[in-house]
Amino acid sequence: MDGTTYLSDYRPYPFTLDRVALTFRLSPRATRVTAALSLSPREAGTPLHLDGEQIKLISLALDGTPLTPADYLLTETGLTIHPAALPEGAFTLQTEVEIAPEENTALEGLYMSKGMYCTQCEAEGFRKITFYPDRPDVMARFHVRIEGDAPVLLSNGNPAGQGPGWAEWDDPWPKPAYLFALVAGDLVATHGTFTTMSGNKVDLNIWVRPGDENRTEFALGALQRSMKWDEETYGREYDLSLFNLVAVDDFNMGAMENKGLNIFNSKLVLASPETATDLDYERIEAVIGHEYFHNWTGDRITCRDWFQLCLKEGLTVFRDQSFTTDVRLGPVKRIDDVIALRGRQFREDAGPLAHPPRPDHYREINNFYTSTVYEKGAEVVGMLKTLVGAGGYRKALDLYFARHDGQACTIEDWIKVFEDSSGRDMSQFKRWYTDAGTPHLKVTENFNNGTYTLEFTQETKPTPGQPEKPPRLIPIAVGLLSPNGDEVVPTTILEMTEATQSFTFTGLATKPVPSILRNFSAPVVLERETSAQEQAFLLAHDTDLFNRWEAGRNLARATLIAMSGGAEPDSAYLDAIGTLTAGTTEPAFRALALRLPGEDEIAQALFAAGATPDPEAIHRARRTLMRAMAQRHEAALAATYDACAVPGPYTPDAGPAGLRSLRLACLGLLSTLDGGARAKRLFTEATNMTESLGALGVLVAAGDAARELAAFRERWQGNALVMDKWFLTQLSLCPPGQAAELAETLAADPLFDWKNPNRFRSVMGGLSANHAGFHRADGAGYRFYADWLIRLDPVNPQTAARLSTAFETWRRYDPARQALIRAELRRIADTPALSRDLSEMTARLLG
Ligand SMILES: [Zn+2]
Repeated sequence: MDGTTYLSDYRPYPFTLDRVALTFRLSPRATRVTAALSLSPREAGTPLHLDGEQIKLISLALDGTPLTPADYLLTETGLTIHPAALPEGAFTLQTEVEIAPEENTALEGLYMSKGMYCTQCEAEGFRKITFYPDRPDVMARFHVRIEGDAPVLLSNGNPAGQGPGWAEWDDPWPKPAYLFALVAGDLVATHGTFTTMSGNKVDLNIWVRPGDENRTEFALGALQRSMKWDEETYGREYDLSLFNLVAVDDFNMGAMENKGLNIFNSKLVLASPETATDLDYERIEAVIGHEYFHNWTGDRITCRDWFQLCLKEGLTVFRDQSFTTDVRLGPVKRIDDVIALRGRQFREDAGPLAHPPRPDHYREINNFYTSTVYEKGAEVVGMLKTLVGAGGYRKALDLYFARHDGQACTIEDWIKVFEDSSGRDMSQFKRWYTDAGTPHLKVTENFNNGTYTLEFTQETKPTPGQPEKPPRLIPIAVGLLSPNGDEVVPTTILEMTEATQSFTFTGLATKPVPSILRNFSAPVVLERETSAQEQAFLLAHDTDLFNRWEAGRNLARATLIAMSGGAEPDSAYLDAIGTLTAGTTEPAFRALALRLPGEDEIAQALFAAGATPDPEAIHRARRTLMRAMAQRHEAALAATYDACAVPGPYTPDAGPAGLRSLRLACLGLLSTLDGGARAKRLFTEATNMTESLGALGVLVAAGDAARELAAFRERWQGNALVMDKWFLTQLSLCPPGQAAELAETLAADPLFDWKNPNRFRSVMGGLSANHAGFHRADGAGYRFYADWLIRLDPVNPQTAARLSTAFETWRRYDPARQALIRAELRRIADTPALSRDLSEMTARLLG
């Protein structure tokens, strides 16, 4: 494929870059950037190539002497200085360029968001700021001077002086250009401090636009908790005197870990009880933790090249998931994470976009910020920890930090620290990084004379470019229960290395009930023929909380699949769910168990089983099952709904959040019987966004929310983050027959500021989350979606390309729907001047 980059082509940069001095003279349409790069050749006679795109070269000099056009070659993608123009030893290259941040709608490089300057340089945005070796293995010390009339001028590192109209910053830690950041604007800070374990005082600032400062307290606390946790759990201490975090309204990603100056999408910073849900609070804390943890896993130790992205992301997601488990949610966090993994990553792995956590080629690296790199990358780290144990994991990480601090590393370096610290050969395990696809694990059992045998077979279907799938090392956590519910064999890790392999347990008095893949010990699909009765038994008795939930989920999924083919609701499931509702298990767990699998999950399961999902039938089945659950357990659900009302002022803590979650799960079921009466009452009385939005969603799903939607809009039209919820909720939950028309109406709404990534995603994501609405048989959903991707592409290709993944499931559906989606994908692919981002995606989607 044209313009493809291959892992096998990696070569070290032929120059070393020690120091960088940058000066920015800010102006919306003509910012001047001067750069002085201190370079030394590693070998004589090599040309010097610097990346640079969409920047105007003003001047170029070497050690103070201007270069002439004969000395260099300037193209659309960079600047190359001929070897003859370079000295033999060290030299300084000075460049001056001009850029126009106000015209930068792609939000990569230096751009403007509501009058404020900010940057996003990962992965390759720095080349839109100045000519530079824009690759992660070139690490340099940066000194930055900013001149501009904004009251606040920020960059990485420690402050190095300031005066009226200027500020200087010095970052003592060498870093790649993708971690560079600059922010300038009218901002106010919420201040805090943190004293590190060796007694250094760090000033903390959360910077926001004036008026938002009363919604930053939670973010500041989350940052302090993150700093403490990383010291206690990983022995990692912060390394500057200052930590700045800035909230930006127009941002393509969630947040960015720039050294000492994290930049966040404002939705992941700003929170108050009236405007943010429990889920928002949880995500804010997780993402603040994530970006902070990158200081060691990403900044101090970075990636050699972008193929190694999951080296920093998989590990850092694993770290933030552990942080949330420890400080907030406990074991139910694992269930949340697995729901998300299956919903996004398993789906990706089963379609045309499947790729390994470490891919070996790409055209546009922005298209590889995927669930496979992030969430599956985290699962792989979790398996490593399971294999070497908690103590072995800490030993390996200590070695990783000691050995690689200040370096740009690879997956091979990472695996090596586990091999060296544990003495184990990890070469088979490495396939988790290099092979795409989700292994399917079949299991059969045999009991004979006190000996119980589990036989496993693993199989991974071919994925694009990888027809052969050798067996992987799969850690399978198994426990055995006696028929009365006692645990006769506690959790044991079976290490499967062959395509087919048996494990035996001896000395058992009776045939046990197995609890397999406890705590979801590997990201695989477990296929096991088992009775509804046994699933109900595990739902009631398993000592592993994850597998209790899993048993209920399996029952629900099987019931919905049967119902989408016309069957009646399964009474074993209805009975089991009743026991759980009335039980005493923690509320957050009961809430998760009461929520049915989503329609997309059912479609995915049907496809995996070789069937063709019917989106309307799945939607009807799900609504019918909700009603059947409510009818069977109305009294218990109503009592739980009332009992879960949280008295007193709102706090986002896990305890009350769990109660609200259970209450809303009950409300959703009860609304199929009470005509929405409870939801209308709750919507009117709610004093927090969790319950207000939860009630609104229930009413939208029932098709009776016109008054509430109008009231919500009237109250919140001045708050962009809350209005994103208004767009998202009504589109994602409305009756599917109305979704495409509603999308058209909302796209014509004056509040649909489509160039803002959050707002664009709330409409597009809302439509694609409405499974039966998006996949409506007449193709109206597909058409709307494709129209808008085509429109957004020239403005913001990165966001357009990411949202194109809504089409990745097209092979699941019937020939008529497949033809409609293919036609839309071709229409996108044939659009003149399509971006590299979106054209790579459509080519891969079409296969
Ligand atoms: Zn990250």
